[in-house]
Amino acid sequence: MFLAAIAGTIRDEAMSSKNEDQTPLKYKRIVAKIGTNVLTAGSDRLNMDLMADLAAQVAALRKQGAELIVVTSGAIATGRHRLGMKERKDIPFRQVLAAVGQSDLMQAYQGIFAGHDITIAQTLLTRRDLADRVGYLNARNTLLAMLELGVVPIVNENDVVAVDEIEGAKIGDNDNLSAFVANLVDADLLAILTDTGGLFSADPHVHPAAELIPRVDTIDEQVEALAGEAKVGHGVGGMATKIQAARLATGGGTDVFIASGREADALKRLAHGEGLGTHFPAGVDRMESRKRWMLAALSVKGDIVVDDGAARVLREKEASLLPAGIQKVEGEFARGETVAIVDGDGNRIACGITNYSSEEIQRIRGIHSDKIEDVLGHHYGSEVLHRNNMVLL
Ligand code: GLU
Repeated sequence: MFLAAIAGTIRDEAMSSKNEDQTPLKYKRIVAKIGTNVLTAGSDRLNMDLMADLAAQVAALRKQGAELIVVTSGAIATGRHRLGMKERKDIPFRQVLAAVGQSDLMQAYQGIFAGHDITIAQTLLTRRDLADRVGYLNARNTLLAMLELGVVPIVNENDVVAVDEIEGAKIGDNDNLSAFVANLVDADLLAILTDTGGLFSADPHVHPAAELIPRVDTIDEQVEALAGEAKVGHGVGGMATKIQAARLATGGGTDVFIASGREADALKRLAHGEGLGTHFPAGVDRMESRKRWMLAALSVKGDIVVDDGAARVLREKEASLLPAGIQKVEGEFARGETVAIVDGDGNRIACGITNYSSEEIQRIRGIHSDKIEDVLGHHYGSEVLHRNNMVLL
């Protein structure tokens, strides 16, 4: 009832504020990370007004053509509230809270986004999944497909299985997760919305005279030291994990802002290019970083030799590689590994992550994509290499 009432209000507001936003978008593909303290407004439960406001911003940006992915925290806090339990630090207990709270959290998102006719998708990830090549490929393909279908992914860490043993047996943090997601989908902007307005010259909770640092071009030891100080006592993801996230995402070519989620229209303003909070400009061109990642971080496991027609289409149109244009396959590789596409003379045209193993390609080469399932008994899509996962050389 309560959610339905809110959804109704949102719909009315959305109608009356049509065309209100004419400021052009600076960023198109946006990952918005929302911390627990923002979602609860510092209380012990979700603040529906704040969530409704967030959904309205997402809806307005989408009307302008932006693609949004929300990385949300708040499951543990919500679970704790539902069970009426006090804080306990042990991991299994917190995992139970996360599992209980996650469904309430999603229900809340579902209600507020339904008011804007937006379909959402619960997307639970662990960093371990993404470290694995096939997991990475599956997550990337699924997220990109959601965006293509106009669905808004609502991402959280899969806390039931994600225990970061390396960092002192604590549940992983969504700051780093949001940077992984930004890299995964080649986001233009990662907006980390928090209850602190950005990175300050000292911890503003301790030193009221601390000043906001509007821009950080290089994340050096000095910046890390500031973040280290600000970390004390402020949630799972203190400033230190936000700085780690900023380093990860800027290194992948994504612009990062750490800004206050309580500031009016923070997400919209950031998407329109307003400098809110602390800006960490992208360190490298995104294509460049992807190229480096594919060429350096991963070794090429084999070659796919294509005919002249496919070579031309790949070079000229940056198209995906379909089985029809494949003449032969050299080397042994699994789905999710990096391969090179070469022409008949052995010249490399592109590198990319393959959707099919060498053994599967051997069987489907030369055929029409419609026949993949007949031949293999399963299929992972029409493309052997999707253009999104490919870099032309
Ligand atoms: N995944 C946790 C939750 O939803 C939060 C982790 C974090 O805030 O970094 O409660």
